[in-house]
Amino acid sequence: MTNPRAPGAARRRVVLLGATGSIGRQCCDVIGSFPDRFQLVGVVAGSDAAGLADVARRFGVEATALVAPRPGESLPDGIAAGLDAACAIAAMESDVVCVAIPGAAALLPTLAALDAGRTVATATKEVLVMAGELVKDRAAAAGASILPVDSEHSALWQCLRGESIAGVRRLVLTASGGPFRERDPATFAAITVEEALRHPTWTMGRKVTIDSATMMNKGLEIIEAHFLFDVPYTSIDVVIHPRSIVHSFVEFIDGAVVAQLGVPDMRVPIALAISGGERLPGIAAHMQLAGAPPLDFFDVDAARFPAVALARSAGETGGIAPAVLNAANEVAVAAFLDGRLRFDGIVPLVAHTVAGAAHVLTPTLEDILAADRWARDEASAGLPGAAVRA
Ligand code: MG
Repeated sequence: MTNPRAPGAARRRVVLLGATGSIGRQCCDVIGSFPDRFQLVGVVAGSDAAGLADVARRFGVEATALVAPRPGESLPDGIAAGLDAACAIAAMESDVVCVAIPGAAALLPTLAALDAGRTVATATKEVLVMAGELVKDRAAAAGASILPVDSEHSALWQCLRGESIAGVRRLVLTASGGPFRERDPATFAAITVEEALRHPTWTMGRKVTIDSATMMNKGLEIIEAHFLFDVPYTSIDVVIHPRSIVHSFVEFIDGAVVAQLGVPDMRVPIALAISGGERLPGIAAHMQLAGAPPLDFFDVDAARFPAVALARSAGETGGIAPAVLNAANEVAVAAFLDGRLRFDGIVPLVAHTVAGAAHVLTPTLEDILAADRWARDEASAGLPGAAVRA
């Protein structure tokens, strides 16, 4: 197929927040493959100064910032430091801001981009989970739009293009089920970090890979879908599909089902989002269905994967509950990765933290940030061997 782009069209100015992680690197891949379409103008990374400098050099980037330089590290010339500098880059003149900073740290830069009226292509579901209502209000006030990079939500977006939400019966998120879909739950206490990081179908960052192993990832994605597509929780389902070929599907009120399929390759949703919905040639490998193994679908085993119902319930509770869920989960996952918490301790610690949270129904940004801090302290105090508080 030929490239349908008109010759001489202006390149899209892309800002990339979180350039050195898994999504950030794949975003750079896409941009590097289409130098006539994209221009990387601003880049933010967490603490990897060398990785950031490398991207800046490779793409001739105008503005760069490191959110949290390592203590005592001297930064190369031209690299700014700190969250304010990152937010300024998020807001700079651009056609799209790709948000790939993992976790809650992405919230303020995302808000800075939206407040400036930028189109945000977000790979960071935690932002919508923590502050979905607020993020959407701020986007609406500035006339900014939010496009999904998460593969399931990109699939739903593709299935819904040209459709009205009024015609939707339900959204169905597919889940691989991760590495422990068939493992005896009686052995979950013995799961090692290495086993949990061995995802069967996707190569992703460490945090989301652990979230996939507990299936908290799918719970967070239910909340993300609720906010992205304005669909009630009762109309969002999850089904296990181990091969990760069907990336999600939509059932319409007339009984029609529209699904999006493809080989698992995050560059497809990244390219679609940063191009503003335009299809680019040759992003992923060609998919061959004839002769391929069957596409299987299974219900989620709620006893094996309690995180899905826990997250759904936090979403339905609303207010600060999803922010508390998210923060406690970030603490629990980090503790598991550091060897301070057993795999089967992750979801109970999150559940315990959510159960102990106060109820704030229409939170301000300050309420959300306070809930995030409270949940981190509370979950940290609940880790094995944590000091008992007075
Ligand atoms: Mg996903």
